[in-house]
Amino acid sequence: MKNYKIILSTIKHNLKILPPRTDLCQECATKHDINEPHNRDSLYYQIHFKMKNGRSPNWEDAIAHCDKVTKQLWRKELIKLGETLPEKANKKEVKRK
Ligand SMILES: [Zn+2]
Repeated sequence: MKNYKIILSTIKHNLKILPPRTDLCQECATKHDINEPHNRDSLYYQIHFKMKNGRSPNWEDAIAHCDKVTKQLWRKELIKLGETLPEKANKKEVKRK
């Protein structure tokens, strides 16, 4: 069991991915404006984010770099679509009303 954990850890830390094309967002490998959210569902974003942060990204991570208005708009639309936002985001949204 111990060896299994070491092998998994080694594989995890040696994972490398090629950077996206230069005309694409360097975080999510998708074409979007700077103030638009990253594509949370992009495989590149999922892997790249997990390598940097040790966990999978959620929508709050994907909109973290956007301005306040864009974040509010996206949260509202994501909730309409049935997406579950992290607890912190929902609390912030409630406080603003
Ligand atoms: Zn992006």
